Amino acid sequence: MAGSIQPPPVVFLDRDGVINRDSPGYIKSLAEFEFLPGSLEALRRLAEHGFEAIIVTNQSALGRGWLRAEALAAIHRRLCDDVLHHGGRIRDILVCPHRPDENCACRKPRPGLIMEARRRHGIDVAAAVMIGDSGKDIECALNAGVGASVLVRTGNGRQAEAELRRKGIVPDGIAADLPAAVDWILHRRRS
Ligand SMILES: [Mg+2]
Ligand SMILES: [Zn+2]
Repeated sequence: MAGSIQPPPVVFLDRDGVINRDSPGYIKSLAEFEFLPGSLEALRRLAEHGFEAIIVTNQSALGRGWLRAEALAAIHRRLCDDVLHHGGRIRDILVCPHRPDENCACRKPRPGLIMEARRRHGIDVAAAVMIGDSGKDIECALNAGVGASVLVRTGNGRQAEAELRRKGIVPDGIAADLPAAVDWILHRRRS
């Protein structure tokens, strides 16, 4: 019926500490990129259930001159290829390349990356879910009007849990890792 076509539901994902292992020294090369256990299968399950996965990631190492754009492109090519190979799909990857002191509009917790994703893909942001391992991800979801947020305990998640609690911010879900966050999303849709 006219006007009844629903866009596919979207899951926004942080990258480091959610999909792949994070490092205090940043991920600067393919050699440093390593999927967390179960994340490829989790992304496949999202795709199987009709969700589109969009990565939104702060990469201040670019702005600091520690990460080359070519290296980041190679990492993201590998990431997308491996996900495809395992039956999932990454619709898009949006990157904030700025340092915190540049005060840009796109570094999470600011909502710029989500707004840009909406412009590019016509996303119903209020129906989307954000999965992140840091307070910035959860606050970004709130600032952008993302419908729900799930904090994972991988990466910086445990620290973020305490930090958010101090600020009085409660994520909609807390999950052990990305596979558990996907369980949370699928269960929420059924109930
Ligand atoms: Mg992270
Ligand atoms: Zn930025």
